[in-house]
Amino acid sequence: MHGADVADAEPGTRPECDGIVASGPGVVLMVRAADCVPVLLGDAEHGIIGAAHAGRLGLVRGVVPATVARMRKLGAEDVTAWVGPHICGRCYEVPAQMRDEVAAVESAARSTTSWGTPAVDLGAGVRAQLEREGVTVVDLARCTLESADLYSFRRDRDGAGRQAGVVRLAPDRGSS
Ligand SMILES: [Zn+2]
Repeated sequence: MHGADVADAEPGTRPECDGIVASGPGVVLMVRAADCVPVLLGDAEHGIIGAAHAGRLGLVRGVVPATVARMRKLGAEDVTAWVGPHICGRCYEVPAQMRDEVAAVESAARSTTSWGTPAVDLGAGVRAQLEREGVTVVDLARCTLESADLYSFRRDRDGAGRQAGVVRLAPDRGSS
């Protein structure tokens, strides 16, 4: 959707959103992406998890902070985020005006490609947003465009699959 809407997970429903949260054991949340940034979130202590998908618009609209805020509303305190594979700031070329629009909202995302043209660093932007929210970041990122074993929409276009990340609260939460 590339928006900032966040839904509470309900079994049997498929809300259209880029952020989703859940509390209580047994629920599995999944995020799918191919160049956009997949983010999985958890507060094992309080049993609250979240997942978010942030591309350029999601970064600007703040879907990741919105997902953290929704988790906090449910009682989350110490939140950890796992940032997954996405297109890197040296590969994600955009028009100069677009780069400036993103950087006006999230300056950490201003970037330049390895060949010297305007770019957006989605991962740096998302990490800055997470750190501002006091979230512990575990960065598992690799560049999807440069990694032949990962799906990249920019590289493979309509033939691109999607990476999937899942987060789940184990029944004996806190120990996993
Ligand atoms: Zn790259």
